[in-house]
Amino acid sequence: MSSDGNTDFWTRKRVIVTGGTGFLGSHIVDSLKRLRATVLVPRSSEYNLVKMDDALRCFQGFKPDVVIHSAAYYGGLGFNQLYPGKIFYENLVMGANVMEATRLAGAERFVGIGTACSYPGYLEGELKEQDLWDGPPHESVINYGLTKKMMAIQGWAYKKQYGFKSIHLILTNLYGPRDTFHIERAHVVSALIKKFVDAKLRNEPEVEVWGTGKPVREFLYVEDCAEAILLAAEHYEDTMPLNLGCGQGTSIRELVELVQELTGYQGNIVWNTSKPDGQLKKILDVTRMKQALRWTPPTELPVGLKQTIGWYSANKNEADLRR
Ligand code: GDP
Repeated sequence: MSSDGNTDFWTRKRVIVTGGTGFLGSHIVDSLKRLRATVLVPRSSEYNLVKMDDALRCFQGFKPDVVIHSAAYYGGLGFNQLYPGKIFYENLVMGANVMEATRLAGAERFVGIGTACSYPGYLEGELKEQDLWDGPPHESVINYGLTKKMMAIQGWAYKKQYGFKSIHLILTNLYGPRDTFHIERAHVVSALIKKFVDAKLRNEPEVEVWGTGKPVREFLYVEDCAEAILLAAEHYEDTMPLNLGCGQGTSIRELVELVQELTGYQGNIVWNTSKPDGQLKKILDVTRMKQALRWTPPTELPVGLKQTIGWYSANKNEADLRR
């Protein structure tokens, strides 16, 4: 066993990580390299995975043992309001192509990265895997949530027909270093960090935040998430999706106060209630995760936020440009 609890499962494994230059993907790649895997990250300039020919060329050339499909065309609530059609098409087709190319390349397993946006929008308690199919996702994210969920069905059908091994992991809201801070695409944590850090630097009297502050979300530190994904790829085999999260809710109001305190911003907060709240509560039930992986995320929210604020402040110029 290595110090982070992994066995030598990954040593010399050939792994494709789609989206491996992105936020989550780059942390998965770092963890895999530490575990001595051989990693290929398909670059979009060379392989457009929305095109099946490109996916086949990439996968048949590299001959992976494992594929982790972490690429997604997505952003926060605002981004989803701007580009709903493109988000639908790219994620649906890319997911179908990548899993099919994985099968045709003869890989031993496929790891699909899904989203808590796939859960029925009306559910308000902790979201359990068995409730995934109980109704449509919240209308603010239905175009994204449904497409990602289709990978779970594809995996189930491929197991039945081809004996193909795949898992589907449902992720909660992530945050951490290398997140997208571009304001058009940012999710709430990176958006708030950017707003408060910038306002402090420029001595601005107020910061505008969205909605009512009442929605509750769960936030998982990205390095913890990468660790959980690799543990699941190694130890979890069921076609039933598996939630990955911390299981703890934080209201947007609490988050805003925490980010304000940690950035040391002294000005006022203005709540713009004309902006959407989205789903009222989104927290995963992580009972099955704890059992299957014998793991709980080690990073507490204030600690992870401090690291993220530090990273953003040190890499601001580059982070502001990245979309
Ligand atoms: P969601 O988790 O898919 O709903 O997406 P977000 O992370 O974008 O938003 C989560 C919650 O944070 C919503 O209730 C937003 O209204 C709220 N929020 C508050 N301020 C902001 C902000 O500046 N940017 C974003 N993206 N969300 C914000």
